[in-house]
Amino acid sequence: MKASPTRKTLKKVDLNQRENRFHQKGTIIWLTGLSGAGKTTVSIALENALFEQNALVTLLDGDVVRTGLNSDLGFSAEDRKENIRRIGEVARLLAQQAFVVIVAFISPFRDDRDWVRNSMDNGRFIEVFVDCPLAVCESRDTKGLYKKARKGEIQDFTGISSPYEPPLSPEIHLNTAEDTVEECIEQIIRHLTKTDVFKKI
Ligand code: ADP
Repeated sequence: MKASPTRKTLKKVDLNQRENRFHQKGTIIWLTGLSGAGKTTVSIALENALFEQNALVTLLDGDVVRTGLNSDLGFSAEDRKENIRRIGEVARLLAQQAFVVIVAFISPFRDDRDWVRNSMDNGRFIEVFVDCPLAVCESRDTKGLYKKARKGEIQDFTGISSPYEPPLSPEIHLNTAEDTVEECIEQIIRHLTKTDVFKKI
């Protein structure tokens, strides 16, 4: 008769097993940029494109996390840091389960982004600079926030009354004022293919 498994003989499913099963490498794709630069648009289009190719993919979006997990946090430098730390932890946990995790937050401070980068093994953190001139973001004003920030109705607004520190050497640099959403997605997918994030798709 076969012996029942015991705590000693049981082994947790590990990352390697999951990655072989899903034919992909657990990775964080981290989009950073000003409000209105196109992070949400690009991340949703990217999630759909990867999902259609059978990837195990998920998306953490700024506005959604801010109203749930991080609803206790504001926009001071300290709270922004804690916001990114928690998001980084969630993204890392998912990446450890072999997910490709798309993260779309302004994440204005270099140190905070680098903190997440340094918590990941080499090649498993892909920083995407969603670059767009402030004037273009402001003219888009998709959520009407720039108008309010200019009137002083919103404090600590990135680009207006709070700094944005652009990445110094992002893996991917998008220019959403010049390129279409489709071109941006192609640029990201080219990088994912080149770096073997998906082994078989
Ligand atoms: P964010 O999430 O960075 O605040 P959004 O995605 O909400 O930005 O808004 C970006 C706006 O810019 C949308 O109205 C989108 O249609 C437009 N847009 C124009 N070109 C692009 C592009 N190449 N990539 C992303 N968004 C673009």
